[in-house]
This record gives sequence, structure tokens and C-alpha cells, in this order.
Amino acid sequence: MIDESAKKKIEDGLAALPVVQYAWLDASEISFSERVREICRSECPRYGTSWACPPGVGSVEECRARCSSYEGAFVFTTVAEVQDIENMEETLSTRRGHEEITGEIRGIFRDCGLDTLALSGDSCACCSTCAYPDGPCRHPDRMIPCIEGYGIVVPLLAEKAGIVFDNGGNLVTWFGLLLWNKGLG
Ligand code: SF4
Repeated sequence: MIDESAKKKIEDGLAALPVVQYAWLDASEISFSERVREICRSECPRYGTSWACPPGVGSVEECRARCSSYEGAFVFTTVAEVQDIENMEETLSTRRGHEEITGEIRGIFRDCGLDTLALSGDSCACCSTCAYPDGPCRHPDRMIPCIEGYGIVVPLLAEKAGIVFDNGGNLVTWFGLLLWNKGLG
């Protein structure tokens, strides 16, 4: 369990951010599936182009083991309103704002002395061209892998967390996940 003073500091920090819902879970409550990885492989143009995406992040089993090495999980959503949710270009253009908020939340966790693994809704965009696969990641402390790229089943995560998976209408719902361990930060 996270200690109450760290939890309060984190939740106070969240109050300044446009986080819509959040929940604290055990890392063991996260569900993984090879089928999610298969969707990356068959449908995502970032597959095989980044250390933040598969196969650079490792197998689903390796991702599961990595997540399981953390004591707790914190899941949250942000929401962006668009003119037309069916317009994929407009919908995806709202990802950056969510990634920035994920980075800010990671900073709050680190300020509390917690070791973190942050996952978010998109592939890493820290560098204009990823070093993958020719060299190691240039900024391992800044990069944020894609949550689905880890094989995580986000609808099941939302259900466990009691968080709305889809806010409907022209609202884009983005998920972020932080795994944390005490005292290593
Ligand atoms: S920080 Fe740079 S090298 Fe590392 S995953 Fe992101 S884009 Fe690739």
C-alpha cells in the first residue's frame, strides 16, 4: 500500500491537472492479452518503429512480468472534445496533450520518491526519429511506452478501476497507467 502522505501529495497534485477519473489498483489486477499485441502488429503503423512499441518493448509475457514487479498501479483518464469523433486525424491529434499530462503525473510520483513505469496512449515522440532498432533508447527516463503495446486490455482495466471506458459523443477518452514501487525513486 502507498503511504497516506504520498497518496495525498499525489492527489493534491492531480487537482491541478485535467484528469477526469482515476483509481488505485494492485498491479496484479491488470489483464494482458496476445490479441491486443496482434492488433498492434496488424494495424498500427508504429509497430516495429520505436523502443516504446512492440516488439521493442518485449513480448507480452515480458511486459506482464515487468508490470508485476511493481507494487501498485494508478490508472487515469483525460478527455478531449473534437468536432467529429469519426475523423481519425482530428481524434488522434488530441494524443499529445494526454501524453504531456502523463509525463506530469509521472513527475508527481517521482517527487514522492516512487519508482515508476508510465504507460500512455501513444508511442513515444521524444525524438524526431527513434533510435530503434540501431541504437539504445536515448532517453529511457523520459520515454513513455504505449499501454496497448504492452498487451494490456484497456476495457478490462477500465472495468476493474470503475472508470468509464468511452465518454461518448465527440469526447475522446485517453487512458494512462503508472506502475509504482516505494522508495526507489
Ligand atoms: S526517447 Fe527517443 S529513442 Fe527513446 S523511445 Fe522515445 S523516440 Fe525512441
